[in-house]
Amino acid sequence: MAVYLDHNATSPQRLESLTAMNEWLALPANPSSAHSYGRAARKQLEDARKIIAEKISAWPNEIIFTASGTEANITALRGFPERKLLVSAVEHSSVLKHAGNDNMIKVIANGIIDLADLEQKLASNTHPALVSIMLANNETGIIQPIAEIAELCKKYGALLHCDAVQALGKIPVDFSLLGADMLSISAHKCGGPLGAAALVIKNNLSIKPLLSGGGQELGRRAGTENIAAIAGFAAAIEVIDLNYMKTLREYMDEMEAQIQSAGGIIFGKNSKRLPNTTCVAMPGVSSEIQLIDFDLNGYAVSAGSACSSGRIEKSHVLLAMGVAPELAGCAIRVSTGWNTSKQEIENFTKAWLKLKARLAK
Ligand code: PLP
Repeated sequence: MAVYLDHNATSPQRLESLTAMNEWLALPANPSSAHSYGRAARKQLEDARKIIAEKISAWPNEIIFTASGTEANITALRGFPERKLLVSAVEHSSVLKHAGNDNMIKVIANGIIDLADLEQKLASNTHPALVSIMLANNETGIIQPIAEIAELCKKYGALLHCDAVQALGKIPVDFSLLGADMLSISAHKCGGPLGAAALVIKNNLSIKPLLSGGGQELGRRAGTENIAAIAGFAAAIEVIDLNYMKTLREYMDEMEAQIQSAGGIIFGKNSKRLPNTTCVAMPGVSSEIQLIDFDLNGYAVSAGSACSSGRIEKSHVLLAMGVAPELAGCAIRVSTGWNTSKQEIENFTKAWLKLKARLAK
């Protein structure tokens, strides 16, 4: 089996999460049913809600379960249609697609939001805005100063949504400390299953539901909750090991040092970044060539944002950071996780150096 270094795409499910899910897969589990099966499902749903809320310092009734991080993001963005939307230029496509160019907040070369641009856009708004800025970037791992951004939003009466999908499981995520009004999280990025995610929304906010019909999730998201996946989400969140993430950063730092000394370029090197993520260019060698070579040699990594056709597009994140298009076309993303060993990172480092030396000849 290939070494899996693509945890930011999806992280392998943890055994604890699989076990918790398995208990529910064979049962009729609709938490809205009044009979004993339904009541058991309701208990599981509310237990999971409590566990997840506690882990991120939110209240249980602030959690709306959704089927994906994408759905959580879109629920937040469409939930306040009277507000003008402002999003950063480095957001995930599920956020980016909702804003026009005029509503795009710039980033500076280190990948951090241009706070002056945000303030200028907030100040020139005639009516209150909804700002959406991610906690950590999926391609570079760069972490945004959300608490500072939240202060600025408050000053101008704007609401702040924060996409924390990549941050959960890698760095502390504390809803009350961040100061955002809404937060998106997703199970499959932190050792849970596909099919469960959540939008966390402050108690005092009333949101227009994206999906309406049934009264599930206090009328904020219609559709029968996916109990097995939600049980798996709570079990995964319980076993998050942030200490191992810190250890991974040490291994990744060593990898980055070796790659840099051989001519590799690490994006956001001096910015605060996720402990598991490295976005690196091998100048003169296209991302496609690298991906194919690493794949043939048993390493699963990724590049830019692979669209649904599998074609690789130049990273909008790197372009927004002012990286030249030719260099952006030579970048790959290495993202490790809970089951990545030091040996695997060392072996990948050797593979990178070997490819670089071979192509230089
Ligand atoms: N937000 C970020 C930052 C992501 O990286 C992703 C997925 O890659 C998403 C949102 C979407 O999450 P999901 O795959 O659960 O829809």
